[in-house]
Amino acid sequence: MFKAITLAATLSTAMTVLGLAAGGAAAEPLKVVASFSIIGDMAGEVGGDRIELTTLVGPNGDAHVYEPRPADAATLAKADVVLVNGLHFEGFLQRLVDASSTKATIVELARGVETIDSHEDEEDADAHAGHEGHSHDHEGHSHDHAGDEDAHDGHAHESHAHEGHAHEEHGHQGHGHHHGDVDPHAFQSIANARVYVKNIADAFCAADAAGCDTYRANAAAYDTRLAEADTQVKAEIAAIPEDRRIIITSHDAFGYFEKAYGITFVAPKGISTEAEASAADVARLVEQVREEKASAIFVENITNPRLVEQIGRETGLKVGGTLYSDALSDADGPAGTYIDLMLHNARTIKGAIVGS
Ligand SMILES: [Zn+2]
Repeated sequence: MFKAITLAATLSTAMTVLGLAAGGAAAEPLKVVASFSIIGDMAGEVGGDRIELTTLVGPNGDAHVYEPRPADAATLAKADVVLVNGLHFEGFLQRLVDASSTKATIVELARGVETIDSHEDEEDADAHAGHEGHSHDHEGHSHDHAGDEDAHDGHAHESHAHEGHAHEEHGHQGHGHHHGDVDPHAFQSIANARVYVKNIADAFCAADAAGCDTYRANAAAYDTRLAEADTQVKAEIAAIPEDRRIIITSHDAFGYFEKAYGITFVAPKGISTEAEASAADVARLVEQVREEKASAIFVENITNPRLVEQIGRETGLKVGGTLYSDALSDADGPAGTYIDLMLHNARTIKGAIVGS
């Protein structure tokens, strides 16, 4: 009897101590996992020191072809909140979630953005046969498509539906960048990033109500900076003459940038972030560059620059620098944060075409 009372008293004391800790400054941080570096940066802005953040695919990493490590499953198993892009951006995600048996909420940050279609199979003759009513949403498109009508024949420039369309049929051998029809790179528009940030704040508030005021305040301050950056990106692109706004990149990651800021990106067809380009691929791309009358060509931080450099040599087109598509640079690089990434890309494009 005496022993039982002692034990109960001891437990009660222990629970009181724990209870105080949970409500006080020494509370356990919210364990947050971000799937890749851009989301990690946004999560850090909103969470501050209330969260313990782990980012799976780091700077200059390619989330499309990432192979999770056993440690990632352990990290996920312990997480309170897992932040992902969604829209099939992270090819590894479902396997990892299943392997980890995590109880964490998986939050798709692209939820609520207006998605656009991938351009990957544009002008692919075989693909068009099965593409009833297919069109490319080119609102705000500054490029007038002069001499380009054939490629768009029968393609209404209106909204469209791709029911039952199987991307697998289009011969993208070795394609590590398998998106289906929706372009997953929604973060390439700052307006969309602001939706991501709101979704992050909502997720953190749901998981940690005590920190909600902090998360909302952090998100609001960050949102103001994002809005300013959006204005700056628009100003950079507006300084480029409209007839010179066609550029070449190495993978099709900039559809949202194109739509938001009015510049046309052309990416090699069927050449992924992981596949080696054949001589035929190179010849086709050289032809494409000439037809499109591109102003500049860019390498990307997540892809091998060799192909783009070769295209540059063969077409005489200047390689205008490195664009950061699907990952930040290292912290001391030019795109160490999401805002710096967007500003760097806009300034690099402008600088290559009209000088900085
Ligand atoms: Zn990508």
